[in-house]
Amino acid sequence: MTDTITAIATPHGTGGMAVIRISGTNAIARADAVFQPIRGGKPSEMAGYTCAYGYILRDGQRLDDVVLTVFRAPHSYTGEDVVEISCHGGRYLTEQILRTVLCDTVRLAQAGEFTKRAFLSGKLSLTQAEAVADLISASGENAMKAARSLRDGATFRRIKAASEQLLVILSDLAVWADYPDEDIPDVDGGALERRLEELLTELRNLLSTYDYGRILREGLHTAIVGKPNVGKSTLFNALSGYERSIVTDIAGTTRDVVEEQIRLGDVTLRLSDTAGVRDTAEQIERIGVERSWQYLEEADLVLAVFDTSRLLDAEDQALLERLPMARTICICNKSDLARTWQPEDYGFSDYIEISAKTGDKLPELEEAVAKFCSRRSVPAEDGMIANERQRGCLMQAIDAVQEGLDALQMGLAYDAVTVSLDAAEDALLQLTGERITDRVVDTVFERFCVGK
Ligand code: GDP
Repeated sequence: MTDTITAIATPHGTGGMAVIRISGTNAIARADAVFQPIRGGKPSEMAGYTCAYGYILRDGQRLDDVVLTVFRAPHSYTGEDVVEISCHGGRYLTEQILRTVLCDTVRLAQAGEFTKRAFLSGKLSLTQAEAVADLISASGENAMKAARSLRDGATFRRIKAASEQLLVILSDLAVWADYPDEDIPDVDGGALERRLEELLTELRNLLSTYDYGRILREGLHTAIVGKPNVGKSTLFNALSGYERSIVTDIAGTTRDVVEEQIRLGDVTLRLSDTAGVRDTAEQIERIGVERSWQYLEEADLVLAVFDTSRLLDAEDQALLERLPMARTICICNKSDLARTWQPEDYGFSDYIEISAKTGDKLPELEEAVAKFCSRRSVPAEDGMIANERQRGCLMQAIDAVQEGLDALQMGLAYDAVTVSLDAAEDALLQLTGERITDRVVDTVFERFCVGK
């Protein structure tokens, strides 16, 4: 027996339609009390997955004509009896219907409570439930595909498989420990080592998907770097579509980092226009330059800008030497002016020539960024680690398996190996939500909106 909750499931505001959801033991009885069908029986006489047309009544007055759908436990989103009322949109009307539904036995749902109930009744694993929040906020096709596959349980299945592998190893060790005098073949240390190594590889592969998940969620952290006056701010402005950085002819005007989130094709960039990198004695500018180097270290993608209308100098060369080439796209800018050097002459292999000022060839940059992203992408159906909580659990599991493997290789007693592997199993069960504290569950669902 659960208490019954209700909320408006659609966004607040004016729209053609809105949906009010009721879930819990009294959901159907409450629907009987507020709904008058035009034809057919009351909601309590309706089968699951059927709907009826009728009126919502309050104090005998018709509030709205609606379509009411009945879902019977356990075949519903939450696993409980659920009623959904599709009414006409509009904030006032929807709120009036919600108020009509609310009573002594039906209370307002908290944020994420429907999905939390789905998790608690075993309809969704925790990784699937988290994906529901990601689906709601997903921007772009790739982010949506990834969230969809998480929702369908791709990550859960992968973790479950690893966790089952671990359980088999643990049970082999337990048999040996519990019946040492019986005629049971000794644990094959070499085979055990191989099994643990395989498991570690799989867990590490899964961990490596985290970066791509973060890029989908937050966008690609992209730093525009270059010495002063090569056109960094002009490029930044061209990309973000409006003038934000100060563009001048005086070297060193972007003193700090300017940031903007933009969409380039299907990719979201968190774009940072950094201070021009050069040797300077001026204290404030020097701080800016230091930060530029730091951005260069940490960025997912570096757009390194050079000016082809002037010969490369020592500052350009210094930058070239510090570029993380695997994460860099070289931008040879000012292609509208006479060229004083050819990119190939300076060892550029991967570069694009553009004119940030005229916007010429920006589509090529878009293509290069899309290509860069696709190299880092993970097939959506493989599942991925989607947030910090999942990453933390997975890292704990990896450390614990590694500890077990170390213990084995050092020739320690199998008991020591078992202790580590138990800890790894625990971390994996926390990841899927099969063994988790109420506090963590609450934290996960707090990020949802009411009605989900
Ligand atoms: P930053 O210091 O690297 O950010 O450089 P700015 O974006 O402030 O540009 C420095 C100067 O170069 C400005 O006068 C820009 O108008 C000019 N500039 C930038 N990009 C181009 C380009 O593609 N072609 C030409 N001709 N001038 C450019």
